[in-house]
Amino acid sequence: MSPGAAFRELRIRGLGRRFGNGFTALDGLDLDIGGGEFIALLGPSGCGKSTALNLLAGLLAPTRGSIWIDEQRVDTLPPEKRNFGMVFQNYALFPHLTVAENVAFGLRMRKVGKAERAERVRKALELVRLTEQAGKHPGQLSGGQQQRVAIARAIVVRPRLVLMDEPLSNLDAKLRLDMRTEIRLLHQELSLTTVYVTHDQAEALSLADRLVVMRAGVVQQIGRPSEVYERPANAFVAAFVGYRNALPGRLIGADVEIEGLGRIRHGDGDLPAEGEAVAMIRPDDLVIGGPEAGRPISLTVRVCEYQGRSFAVEGRAPDGTVLHAASLEPLAPGDHVSAHIRPERIRVFPRADQPNRA
Ligand code: ATP
Repeated sequence: MSPGAAFRELRIRGLGRRFGNGFTALDGLDLDIGGGEFIALLGPSGCGKSTALNLLAGLLAPTRGSIWIDEQRVDTLPPEKRNFGMVFQNYALFPHLTVAENVAFGLRMRKVGKAERAERVRKALELVRLTEQAGKHPGQLSGGQQQRVAIARAIVVRPRLVLMDEPLSNLDAKLRLDMRTEIRLLHQELSLTTVYVTHDQAEALSLADRLVVMRAGVVQQIGRPSEVYERPANAFVAAFVGYRNALPGRLIGADVEIEGLGRIRHGDGDLPAEGEAVAMIRPDDLVIGGPEAGRPISLTVRVCEYQGRSFAVEGRAPDGTVLHAASLEPLAPGDHVSAHIRPERIRVFPRADQPNRA
């Protein structure tokens, strides 16, 4: 438990939600969250992230499972008894109240006295750098400022847990990055245990202590960002964290014969000695014009897109396989080039485990 955290451990056991139409949106979530931890729930639209968050908040009742904070059972408590703070995508501020009144709202509901209320609102606004805007109405603020009001409103009540549902998705690209850093700083400063829902892998990787990757209501992997990034548990997770090339292959002993790339030693003792496979490779691990380490692959360039420090290239291998690679130099369509791949960077999975199955 980090200093400042309100509990030692939050335990989620077999948590599930089936809707009236028989659809299971969350199918048995098991997760232990340490006090002060920042957890990101990551997955595509419809995978059950918001359902999980709403079950934690108490806005939705589970059809199975339980939630515990240390020795206290929480899922049977009404939302207002849980003492959690929520931040939504659409800010959900009261338009007729000033910034300070919006932030004070939860304290009023909790019957906190006037002097203490004023002091806590002042501190919360200072934390999100909105002291100057205290008397304005939400309509007079930018999107980023409105989201900071929503964050101040959530933290001012000193919640045991902060729940955030895609809080940055209404902001433009630059603001998203700035706010991401602010949320991280705030977490460092306050050690508030946080569960953060997003479909943006970069956001999840950069913010969270641990990620929970979900698909169709089922957890695929729980791990630190570097673990999920370097060692995705399956082809779905790999595709979600940027392994853009998914190439069919065949396992032969300790090797895999990959379409477009040929035979490569995979060195993964957990894979069967034969059978269909899929090889997942990041464009950044298929480099044109870098150090000539690893195995060369001939490519004919189809598209080359400028990306700042490097270029994203789509090319064809001699057998026609389309590959996504990265180049350090600009290239033209039709150029014949050589890309290099380091076999240890390839992730191989059994074929049954396809990345794009819903
Ligand atoms: P998004 O990022 O699009 O919000 P999500 O991962 O948060 O997606 P949820 O909102 O948790 O997904 O929804 C999970 C699934 O449950 C979806 O397929 C959704 O259509 C379904 N669902 C949500 N609410 C209901 C409901 N009241 N009745 C039936 N199905 C529902």
